[in-house]
Amino acid sequence: MILLRSARVIDPDSGLDGVFDILIRDGKIAEIGEALSADGARIIDAHGLCAVPGLVDMHVHLRDPGYTYKEDIASGTAAAARGGVTSVACMPNTKPVIDSAEALRYIAGAAEHAPVRVFPYGAVSLGQSGNALTDFAALKAAGAVALSDDGNPVMSAQLMRRALVAARESGLVISSHCEDAEMVRNYAVNDGAVSLKLGLNGRPAIAEELMVARDAMLAQETGARVHIAHVSTARSVEIIRRAKADGVAITAETCPQYFTLTEDEVLAQGSLARVNPPLRTEADRLAIVAGLRDGTLDAIATDHAPHSVEEKSRPLEDAPSGMVGLETSLALTLTALYHTGLLALTDIIRLMAAAPARILGLDAGTLRVGAIADVVLFAPDETWTVEPSLFASKSRNTPFGGRQLRGKVKYTISRGKIAYADNENGGK
Ligand SMILES: [Zn+2]
Repeated sequence: MILLRSARVIDPDSGLDGVFDILIRDGKIAEIGEALSADGARIIDAHGLCAVPGLVDMHVHLRDPGYTYKEDIASGTAAAARGGVTSVACMPNTKPVIDSAEALRYIAGAAEHAPVRVFPYGAVSLGQSGNALTDFAALKAAGAVALSDDGNPVMSAQLMRRALVAARESGLVISSHCEDAEMVRNYAVNDGAVSLKLGLNGRPAIAEELMVARDAMLAQETGARVHIAHVSTARSVEIIRRAKADGVAITAETCPQYFTLTEDEVLAQGSLARVNPPLRTEADRLAIVAGLRDGTLDAIATDHAPHSVEEKSRPLEDAPSGMVGLETSLALTLTALYHTGLLALTDIIRLMAAAPARILGLDAGTLRVGAIADVVLFAPDETWTVEPSLFASKSRNTPFGGRQLRGKVKYTISRGKIAYADNENGGK
């Protein structure tokens, strides 16, 4: 039993926002109210802290199996716990690809003793090769919560159309990595001022927008649900806004890097700022913020993409794309959107917990009595400096090292157990 005393409880799912105690018993939220008591409960003084549902990160690369020098399920979930993330949805671009019930069983086994819950995506196509569809019903039965070929855009409109019909029948959503592969090749940066300055070929915004428009139209035509991963451009936001107005079953996520950074970061940080889709322009960044504010963008995910120091110290053109994000996402979001007055805390928690849980159909993202006790306590105003050497992740590839952020995770509780405690509170 744990009793959280005098926290500011913010739960967008139930509309709760006020100072209360939370009693956690048998892994569930047992009671929320004033001046609760429970004999034998561990009491955590949460005065001055916010208590919110554990965050749900719907876009994470755990690299396990196959690339465990970058990350594995143990290190990735430890990183999640440090970041306040209690539900991790992991992408299937591993080795082997998660395209079978057998591969899903491996994930479930490896995640059994993880500090937070893991919800795997299954691949859309066998081997993520874009040729033949996987068996969606079998993947769902084996525990896949959604489908994606993330990392490899589904280039064939015909295959995507068939996938959406099959996904509709199996009740799963497809998360789409929208970039026209032929247009972006293996280019390192946005096509624009920075690519020009560096004399490199760039990844044009239109390569993303064409695919967003295609998938919105296919979702409309098939009546299936589609989710757009890591939205990075102004026109993508506009296409999604219009599709929603037309009643299309479309949802979308963005990531902290797209509302905090622009392509200029590549000039300062080189390979560390290389990510797919690439960092864009200030106009794009502002449109992403607007999309978060007006509900066009439903969720904030990290696209946590660990790579080794050796890989990321290669020249810009040879380094792999991606950055880690689990241990900085809440603080980056609070710093960029809450402490600037752009979003209320309840909106941020909806974007990072309630909404992604709803999109994936997870039993998570809520503090309702009876729910699984995934709770995060954070100090909204505490400042700290990102120190990558302290990450629980195996990887260090962040462009945010040395950055001062405001908002710090103090405790992460997963299924009623303390999964992480900030050292100043006496550790775990
Ligand atoms: Zn992706």
